[in-house]
Amino acid sequence: MNWYGRSLASGCLAALAGLALLSAPAQAQSYPTRSITMIVPFAAGGPTDVISRIVTAHMAQTLGQTIIIENVVGAGGTTATTRAARAANDGYTLITGHMGTHAASVPLYPKLAYHPEKDFEPVGLLAGTPILILARKDLAPKDLKEFIAYVKANAEKVNAAHAGVGSVSHVSCQLLESILAVKPISVPFNGTGPAMNALVGGQVDYMCDQIVNAVPQIKGGTIKAYAVATPQRNPSLPDVPTTTEAGLPAFQAQAWNAIFAPKGTPADVVAKLNAAVVKALDDEGVRKRLLDLGSVIPAAADRTPAALGTLVKSEIAKWTPVLKPVN
Ligand code: ASP
Repeated sequence: MNWYGRSLASGCLAALAGLALLSAPAQAQSYPTRSITMIVPFAAGGPTDVISRIVTAHMAQTLGQTIIIENVVGAGGTTATTRAARAANDGYTLITGHMGTHAASVPLYPKLAYHPEKDFEPVGLLAGTPILILARKDLAPKDLKEFIAYVKANAEKVNAAHAGVGSVSHVSCQLLESILAVKPISVPFNGTGPAMNALVGGQVDYMCDQIVNAVPQIKGGTIKAYAVATPQRNPSLPDVPTTTEAGLPAFQAQAWNAIFAPKGTPADVVAKLNAAVVKALDDEGVRKRLLDLGSVIPAAADRTPAALGTLVKSEIAKWTPVLKPVN
């Protein structure tokens, strides 16, 4: 089944959103009249940043206005997401969130200053991102089985990079480490762009991350990939085995990135933004860039604001029993 699968409920919500549109004021006719800020809650060069830049460059053409990317880092993406939740709900400040900022952060941060469902209007899903187990190129283990034995034998000295508590890289490696019953040293960065640099430079041992910024590095031989945590191999990396093939079927992980607007952003503005997302995802150039980086492009039915709302709800429900609070 599709992991951001549709439901009858999402279909009904889409119909209601359509009705609301009929009675909405004419605001969307003029929107946008100035540049839009897209907050990216991690450092430049990471998956969230890369996906945002690919899609918003096309959205800007559709909308006829510049979209400025603002990287706001800290606290696993929750600093930026708090800022986005409190921004004016006029369609001029948006955020590219992900499975971490808009789902896993809920159980991890009991004092989270926002709630992904109550404080945001879902705009549209941009991409699904399979998770890979990655390591510095000279880490001794040759394959996943050897890696598992190595991490178990060296847990007190092996270290894992991630993008802060609640980030996808943190949450997915937590899942891996709970399956392996190990607790390696954790090394936080402001995003997996800088974490990838440290992996390439050999300063950290391994990382679990969204496929997007790993593909060029794996192909270039600057890091190695032990497995992709999806049922099928990824077309962008045909030589990388699945976790099932490599002997760890219990580790299955896929993330996603999506655009959100502050709660109360007018429905006609959300609809206009969503239409720009959909158009970008149908563009051949955008599709090629996303697919070359291993992303999964959402099917048409999964691109509506209602489908994203359903995804957020189901992801919060999925992660809440799995993750323990950090404060
Ligand atoms: N992939 C990162 C994460 O771990 C975030 C990023 O740098 O895009 O959540």
